[in-house]
Amino acid sequence: MTKAFQSRRIDVYETQGKRSGAYSSGTYAVHPYILMNYNGTYDAMFTTAHEMGHAMHSWFTQRNQPQIYGDYPIFLAEVASTSNEIILDDYLRKNAKSDAERLLLVNNALESIRGTVINQTMWAEFEKLIHHEAEQGNPLTYETMSRIYRDLVTQYFGPSFAYDEQVDGYWLRIPHFYTGFYVYKYATSYSASVALGRGILSGDAGRLNSYMGFLKAGSSDYPIDILKKAGVDMSTPRPIQDTMDLFGELLDQLEKLLNL
Ligand SMILES: [Zn+2]
Repeated sequence: MTKAFQSRRIDVYETQGKRSGAYSSGTYAVHPYILMNYNGTYDAMFTTAHEMGHAMHSWFTQRNQPQIYGDYPIFLAEVASTSNEIILDDYLRKNAKSDAERLLLVNNALESIRGTVINQTMWAEFEKLIHHEAEQGNPLTYETMSRIYRDLVTQYFGPSFAYDEQVDGYWLRIPHFYTGFYVYKYATSYSASVALGRGILSGDAGRLNSYMGFLKAGSSDYPIDILKKAGVDMSTPRPIQDTMDLFGELLDQLEKLLNL
């Protein structure tokens, strides 16, 4: 990371005409490059950690695998990036100087599970249901798709969620649907990262070592087996359950901080 920071491999700030967002990319023979639009905010700090996760995954993979296995499949692509976010979040929470800061961090951690695990699972289910409609020979109209979306939001967010009818068309705003069944991988990646991140933070050298093995593995095996070797078994409900338990713990902390 120090090397990447010091050797001009990061395009840091916004400039006129520069594309938005943040990316890490590179080719097998060259170290990764990172594009940022860093603006000094809390979010930009997390984005730096996130992109650095992608870059480290590429860096270690490319140095340990032949070119044919020198990339990683989509099922693993968001694991290193979100593991870094979990480590950063833990650091910030341990070093928070006031309850107000703690409140912000706990709320942010809850929001990231909501956005990355809960919403993406709901979107994957939305995709499954609209495919099912099409398979039945039913036309996919705005009304049908919006009704399916509304039913899901109501079901996922529960009876106390105040539903705004503009939410009906929210599915229109998600470009990931152009790549079939892409979104669920955010939920699985985040859940794997919770386990891996906690393993690293436990201080257990063996778990850090198996995480390093994951960063170096690229696509040299089936992704589910690579994660198994790193210590997370995605063929069981355990990682998702642990993530939901974490959500519950965070919610308790939020209520305590707010004196609810
Ligand atoms: Zn990413």
